[in-house]
Amino acid sequence: MAVLLLGEVTDGQLSVDATAKALTAAKMLGDVTVLCAGAKAADAAAEAAKLDGVKKVLCAEDASLGHRLAEPTAALIVSIAGDYSHIVAPATTDAKNVLPRVAALLDVMVISDVSGVVDADTFERPIYAGNAIQTVKSSDGKKVVSIRTSTFDPAGAGGSAPVETISAAANPGLSEWVEDKVAASDRPELTSAGIVVSGGRGVGSQADFALIEKLADKLGAAVGASRAAVDSGYAPNDWQVGQTGKVVAPQLYVAIGISGAIQHLAGMKDSKVIVAINKDEEAPIFQVADYGLVADLFAAVPELTDKL
Ligand SMILES: Cc1cc2nc3c(=O)[nH]c(=O)nc-3n(C[C@H](O)[C@H](O)[C@H](O)COP(=O)(O)OP(=O)(O)OC[C@H]3O[C@@H](n4cnc5c(N)ncnc54)[C@H](O)[C@@H]3O)c2cc1C
Repeated sequence: MAVLLLGEVTDGQLSVDATAKALTAAKMLGDVTVLCAGAKAADAAAEAAKLDGVKKVLCAEDASLGHRLAEPTAALIVSIAGDYSHIVAPATTDAKNVLPRVAALLDVMVISDVSGVVDADTFERPIYAGNAIQTVKSSDGKKVVSIRTSTFDPAGAGGSAPVETISAAANPGLSEWVEDKVAASDRPELTSAGIVVSGGRGVGSQADFALIEKLADKLGAAVGASRAAVDSGYAPNDWQVGQTGKVVAPQLYVAIGISGAIQHLAGMKDSKVIVAINKDEEAPIFQVADYGLVADLFAAVPELTDKL
């Protein structure tokens, strides 16, 4: 089996974490070729070539591939799809944009958010906010698969795959980049951070979310939030963790003023160590927490930050 893995390329650089985790799953399916596409992608391709188990890297550089538009990237993938049995990508915002178009052009389904590979045709994925695991067997001739990165360990370094330059496909011209509004942050990226500190509705206001941010900065952590905190305007949308937010599995997840609704747990319950701070000892978050502190967060969090 030959597998084409879409590398996660941002501003010419490879997101090694997401790509290496998807690579672990892709390797279970066959020989993996990584595609790095962007306005600039040579550095990303060189980085991908070092990942353990990569057989070949394809590097496509073209202005049309530079702004995360689904159409030119999907056209490129479809133009080379004939050589591959599987087209795989990490289940990131980017791939969620590109893969449905690839699948539609190939007239196959997308097998999304895969958390386990049973065999080349059969995959596991979470459903019902992670409360059940569905096993999907596809008879499509070509499988288009997105990988839930939080459930796979990253492939290591040590590879030295050859890099081949390829041309972009003709731009279908169906969309045009206008502007990116990117929030600048010195904090680690939420989905790949080793530590995440999240605040919920219990934090009470946008101003008081500074308590969460201070603790996060002390720990070198990313900041997350529950949907209730986001909907209340305490935290920006891209901090949301959960079923309709981001899925994270850090070494340490600290949930503060979060009750632990199943939709929130769906985004963080695979974290290695979970710490919860909540004033209600009956809060469901304590059922998944490794360490629980029943306390008022307005007292406990500043004290914890000071002591750290
Ligand atoms: C289709 C669907 C998708 C959803 N997707 C998501 C999702 O992606 N992510 C998500 O998070 N939710 C999601 N939700 C919403 C989810 O059901 C919950 O409503 C939400 O997670 C609750 O957020 P919360 O825990 O911050 O708020 P609450 O449930 O209101 O909990 C607040 C907690 O703070 C504690 N608290 C209050 N004051 C203090 C204090 N001073 N000190 C310490 N503790 C305090 C309280 O005891 C309480 O446990 C989704 C819901 C639906 C229906």
